[in-house]
Amino acid sequence: MAGVRSYGPVLPVYVHEPNLISQPDVSRQHQVFVQETLAELRVEIERLGGQLLELVGESLDVFKRLHRITPITRIWTHRETTQNSQYERDKQIKAWCQTAGIELMECEQNGVARGEQASLSFPDYFAQCVTRKLKDPTGTSLTNRFAKPPLPAASPESIPVAAGEDKPLRQRGGRTLAVNAMRSFFSIRSLQRYPFQISSPNTAWNGCSRLSTYLAYGIISDREVFQAVDGVVSLGHEKLSPESFQKLQERARFYLDRLMWRRQYIQTFEHHPELEYRHMLPQFDGVRESEFDSERFEAWKAGRTGVPYIDAAMRCLRQTGWINMRLRATVVSFATMNLWLPTLQVARHLAREFLDYEPAVHYPIHNVASGTSSFDNLMVYDPIKQGIDNDSEGAFVRRWVPELRALKGVGIHDVTRTAGSLSDEARGLGLLPYPAPIVDCRQAGKLAKQRVSDLRKGKNVPDGTSEADAGTQLSLM
Ligand SMILES: Cc1cc2nc3c(=O)[nH]c(=O)nc-3n(C[C@H](O)[C@H](O)[C@H](O)COP(=O)(O)OP(=O)(O)OC[C@H]3O[C@@H](n4cnc5c(N)ncnc54)[C@H](O)[C@@H]3O)c2cc1C
Repeated sequence: MAGVRSYGPVLPVYVHEPNLISQPDVSRQHQVFVQETLAELRVEIERLGGQLLELVGESLDVFKRLHRITPITRIWTHRETTQNSQYERDKQIKAWCQTAGIELMECEQNGVARGEQASLSFPDYFAQCVTRKLKDPTGTSLTNRFAKPPLPAASPESIPVAAGEDKPLRQRGGRTLAVNAMRSFFSIRSLQRYPFQISSPNTAWNGCSRLSTYLAYGIISDREVFQAVDGVVSLGHEKLSPESFQKLQERARFYLDRLMWRRQYIQTFEHHPELEYRHMLPQFDGVRESEFDSERFEAWKAGRTGVPYIDAAMRCLRQTGWINMRLRATVVSFATMNLWLPTLQVARHLAREFLDYEPAVHYPIHNVASGTSSFDNLMVYDPIKQGIDNDSEGAFVRRWVPELRALKGVGIHDVTRTAGSLSDEARGLGLLPYPAPIVDCRQAGKLAKQRVSDLRKGKNVPDGTSEADAGTQLSLM
């Protein structure tokens, strides 16, 4: 807005891009979430005296069209580290801006360096974010600074519909809910409890911050999150004993580690966008693909593998679009190790299932969780042990797998007892008896571990990747 005198009034624009909407990793839940967010944004902009113009088309065509009607002098946008299709779009727009004499202003996000740019260390980046105040235009009238839309907005019916079904129990879009999620998490109590809540799906649902979706869509920024953490620590300094305050600082650091990994993953993807369709270690390309078993893949997706903890996770995901980090790693390990399914197919399915899908985080993490990166210890989870450790009373499985509701306590994880089970409730719902495991978990896990270790011995790191920028530490605490 500061440049209104030199550059003229501002037109807020959102472009619904058919090419993005039709990508195989985009699903209906993502699209509806964006539309909910836009509905609120529209009202917020109107309160400031402007109008959000929503158009349908490829961004380059839309900008050319707008430019013909009212010459554009400058475009402000966020610089994204995202799918390759969107990288291509950004390159086209950049080239067009250059020829059309339009200034393109790309605001950096997440402290990610592009090209030769130097990257700040995480502590320096954090310190910078905490000291830079956020502007809040709420309550100001900016009518004179906004441009009137030079053409009518697209009708909602003209927006192509993304594939797949919306999810009944997913988080809803919009800034208000994002801010509410921040307010409810950033207290001394929540931060103190956080490390003890994140491993079990029973406690993680409320014990994690649940901010990933709002971060992934840019509804809140990492800067806001850092400032909120800093605020809790300052409050703790005032209110707590030195001993409790020290604990709070440790827990705040534990929480911030996750945001540090997030930034490192995004930086890795910025340097290696090919991870969307290739493995980090090229010796894995084509290996699992050549042994693809579609029946196993379908059983895993549907939550009918006969391994209760895995099936509960996949069914929970189908309804809610979210599971906790440890469980994500467990379902990926099960799919790619025990079932030997191709990493990229697994990643693409989960991209559609996770509401917080962020390509730059998602693809590098998949390489770690499926052993196709060289940067970490190989992790092959025993899915039955994970169930016993993290759902010891079986509450999570009972919630999502009605066939097993008659089984009490930890026995719900015993696959010799679950095969063929069908509770009265499940029978009433018309469900089939619960299947026997489609794989011998321990034997298949052992074999996969051996195969992956052998492949990794021919370690081959892509040019330009260092352990530091790969950032592929995957802590599952
Ligand atoms: C196979 C796999 C795929 C994943 N795909 C995604 C994805 O597409 N998008 C996504 O945002 N996260 C992804 N994650 C990371 C992590 O599971 C989620 O960020 C987290 O569960 C989100 O819940 P939360 O916001 O309550 O997290 P919290 O536990 O409250 O963590 C706070 C924030 O830190 C970040 N974060 C947490 N854990 C990690 C991690 N291990 N690596 C990087 N960032 C982290 C997230 O932005 C999160 O919002 C994936 C993890 C795995 C194992």
